[in-house]
Amino acid sequence: SEKEEVHLHHIIKELAPLLLADANMRGQSIEVRLDDNIPSRFVDPKEIKQLILNLARNGMEAMGNKGTLIISTALEEGDVRLSVSDSGQGIPLETQNKLFEPFFTTKSEGTGLGLSLCQGIAERHNAIIRIESEEGVGTTFHVIFKK
Ligand code: ADP
Ligand code: MG
Repeated sequence: SEKEEVHLHHIIKELAPLLLADANMRGQSIEVRLDDNIPSRFVDPKEIKQLILNLARNGMEAMGNKGTLIISTALEEGDVRLSVSDSGQGIPLETQNKLFEPFFTTKSEGTGLGLSLCQGIAERHNAIIRIESEEGVGTTFHVIFKK
């Protein structure tokens, strides 16, 4: 792989203009909350970009033409957490375990490949993905990079 020591915030800042343009086109906003305490890590920056883009696009697609996508980082007991939070329709509990299967999609034009790709990227970075979702309220995908 192509891992190098990079700070996650550097990657988020590089992606910010793209994410902002995407959100603005949809009538949405983006909020970024970065925890200054998180350390740099050995990562593949291209893969981490793909991971964030996929989660962000899913969040935007879930919100329609309104809402704010929140991207945040935090240091939690030595683990680095990256979270992408939307105020979309939420995900029913019974489908939450299918999301990472290749080709699982509920979208008419979806590929169903985004989250399976994210899962692979997380595995290659010693990270796990957790879903927190409430129907009618929204969804947060947490990527937890183990220390
Ligand atoms: P695609 O976006 O092409 O459908 P993904 O693998 O990215 O494929 O996502 C799979 C499915 O997971 C989506 O079709 C959708 O049903 C669900 N999903 C993913 N992210 C969200 C989200 N933020 N809110 C609601 N549903 C989501
Ligand atoms: Mg997707």
